[in-house]
Amino acid sequence: MSGTTLIDPSDASVIGEVAHSSTADVDAAVTRAAVAQRAWAALAPADRGRALRRFAATVDAHLEELAQLETRGSGHPIASARWEAGHVRDVLDYYAGAPERMLGAQIPVAGGIDVTFHEPLGVVGVIVPWNFPMTIASWGFAPALAAGNAVIVKPAEWTPLTAIRLGELALESGLPEGLLQVLPGRGSVVGTRLVAHPGVAKIVFTGSTEVGIGVAAGCAAGLKPVTLELGGKSANVVFADADLEAAAAAVPASVFDNAGQDCCARSRLLVERSVLDRMLELLEPAVAAWRVGDPRDEETQMGPLVSEAHRDRVAGYLDGAPVAFRGSAPGGPGWWVAPTVLTPERTDRVAREEIFGPVVSVLPFDGEADAIALANDSVYGLSGSIWTRDLGRALRVARGIDSGTLSVNSHASVRYTTPFGGMKQSGLGRELGPDAALAFTATKNVFFANGAA
Ligand code: NAD
Repeated sequence: MSGTTLIDPSDASVIGEVAHSSTADVDAAVTRAAVAQRAWAALAPADRGRALRRFAATVDAHLEELAQLETRGSGHPIASARWEAGHVRDVLDYYAGAPERMLGAQIPVAGGIDVTFHEPLGVVGVIVPWNFPMTIASWGFAPALAAGNAVIVKPAEWTPLTAIRLGELALESGLPEGLLQVLPGRGSVVGTRLVAHPGVAKIVFTGSTEVGIGVAAGCAAGLKPVTLELGGKSANVVFADADLEAAAAAVPASVFDNAGQDCCARSRLLVERSVLDRMLELLEPAVAAWRVGDPRDEETQMGPLVSEAHRDRVAGYLDGAPVAFRGSAPGGPGWWVAPTVLTPERTDRVAREEIFGPVVSVLPFDGEADAIALANDSVYGLSGSIWTRDLGRALRVARGIDSGTLSVNSHASVRYTTPFGGMKQSGLGRELGPDAALAFTATKNVFFANGAA
């Protein structure tokens, strides 16, 4: 059986091997999942909620272990990895409330009553990328389980360790065998089989736009619903009337967090031309102060990139690019790239393509209409920020930018209590927030005749 040799991205040491699952493994997992799903859906809603709360408590008891595993396997700074493990617990806790709140409607009709039910879909496939291996898996499996489905998670080839551990913790917490399974393996084998398998009722895919389009086509062939969370090239729009100190101080975290390997990274910094020089002056020390280094160090804000291949891809974008200034990164082994600020033309490749590394392109604009047009001049529409003291402008620009998840005077993107997802080529459907469990159900309408003539 083939497998992946896992490498610690911070020092290039070998962690171990993970065996790949085969198409036969997927087929067997779907059969197990279908059996587990029927029993799970038949449980009382409160019992499903309690089981998810126990899973959350088990994750909570293993937070440090999960965080250490993510730091080793993905190179995430330990402080970030602890937040991610805590987020998985919180997402499970939040959706543990959903089974008892799957409210249907009672619709006025003649001759009886009419009610709707939110029926589970069955077995759901969740295909996960390598950049946030734990959190993104939980955005799929927690609401899907809450809605009464079974879930098969396919982690990314480079970063399967925390998803595998979460699968074990689910069993330890008492979730039934087969209900949440984790199948490491190749996208071209495990991923494509999940998409094509007639026993898989829905696919949740997070990853690149290119692969996502293929996944959507595969789902279309089986008339299978699909949620897509894809790439981004989000704009961080700074108007001249903004609190420039606060805006500049927020830039490093908005784009260098997780070494820029973040679909929500504000990788285009759009600055009103009259304050461009001042913004760059404020930004330079903020970038220099961004602490890049050993992910095991509690103070580290940014670790290495995930792999040698990805480091080389990011470095390729920087060849000959117009660098304004850079932060620091360790030398020696590991897949390091220093935080980099570029001042390209609007049409340059670095200003248009998703680099998925610690690189931000600074682009000047002239006035509100130009800011909106420039922000929208992208195939993507996932995230973004608007910095201004003018509430009316904030509202106009937020409504004008074609993006699914915006913040004003903030770089925050993700809260499990609010919907998250992209417009245009950044995706289809929404995750998180109060309605996420409904995306894993089919509405059934039932009319009860009252027998009156
Ligand atoms: P990727 O598309 O290469 O892989 C994502 C997952 O899909 C992996 O598990 C992979 O094995 C699997 N896969 C590959 N080929 C497949 C196929 N033919 N059929 C089914 N599955 C297949 O993406 P990546 O490089 O792991 O992740 C980086 C990308 O993810 C970036 O573009 C980033 O913006 C995006 N992303 C988006 C979000 C979001 O919420 N919008 C979040 C995180 C990452």
